Amino acid sequence: MTTAPGAGPEAPLLEAYGVSRTFRVSTGVLRSKRMLQAVDGVSLAIRRGEVVGLVGESGCGKTTLARILLGLLPPTEGEIRLTGKAISTLPRRTVAGLVQPVFQDPYSSLNPRKSIGSIIGLPLRVEGGGNAPKRRTQVEEMMERVGLSRHLYDNYPSQLSGGQRQRVAIARALINRPQVVICDEPTSALDVSVQSQILNLLQELRRDLGLTYLLISHNLAVVDHMATRVAVMYLGRIVEEAGTDALFQAPKHPYTQALLASVLTPEPGLGVPDTHLGAAYPNPLDVPAGCRFHPRCVHVMERCRSESPQRCPERGGFVECHLYNNKEHARSIVRAD
Ligand code: SF4
Repeated sequence: MTTAPGAGPEAPLLEAYGVSRTFRVSTGVLRSKRMLQAVDGVSLAIRRGEVVGLVGESGCGKTTLARILLGLLPPTEGEIRLTGKAISTLPRRTVAGLVQPVFQDPYSSLNPRKSIGSIIGLPLRVEGGGNAPKRRTQVEEMMERVGLSRHLYDNYPSQLSGGQRQRVAIARALINRPQVVICDEPTSALDVSVQSQILNLLQELRRDLGLTYLLISHNLAVVDHMATRVAVMYLGRIVEEAGTDALFQAPKHPYTQALLASVLTPEPGLGVPDTHLGAAYPNPLDVPAGCRFHPRCVHVMERCRSESPQRCPERGGFVECHLYNNKEHARSIVRAD
């Protein structure tokens, strides 16, 4: 079960506690207004040194949760805590100094009119530390740290390859030495040949700089390779959380089982195809009653259609499924799979 929020030496570095976020959206020809619940009651604790993988299909709420954790989007309900303190009470500069993002698309996340040195050095200028020559030295050292030649200092993003641009984005995220980096699909816009270089760089930086990561990915192979713990998200909720080995070797939730089955197909694409998931991904505007996974679940029971499952503690994490309120039945289902 996720730790309740609280300050003190044991407090997680970054923690979501009961976080929800709704958006008002226009739908249909008449553009009528409806509420979309992108994140619903999520609790997630990220401790120092961990790499927490957050997986799930497109539209499940991963990126909204990332923006809330970064302090870029306020939650409708619940609280984000950073080093034990409510993020809403911390100055924006303090939050940015502790948590930084690396986004999916290095093509759109870099200002095309700014030089590489200027892009990486911007957080230093905002902080106001040091003089211009000192900042230039810091930027050049960070460029070398992420595998970029310092000769690229005066170049522009359009002159760089995709992999080099993502290295620029990583250097910019790390220049003020944050403690937590939220990597949102950090390699999915890159050529396959470059993806492993960026993942290896992230691993090296984590080791050398003592970083903590939240790694958001639809790519289960990436998460298996990088994460120490995994949270599985479905339609705005985290439905299972466990250590990486436990989750990949013996997934408990029927959704996690289906996700992992999808990468065991002859042509997996290492993504999240829906061929093992029956019905298509539900419309987030019409979240099914009871267990929200029930229209796609091969183990659905009558109560699943009306009753939301509670968290059941499992292997240091939890699973949110009625099967695990009935352990004998759960064991027989898992054995049959
Ligand atoms: Fe399937 Fe029911 Fe478990 Fe939901 S609660 S995952 S429908 S068995």
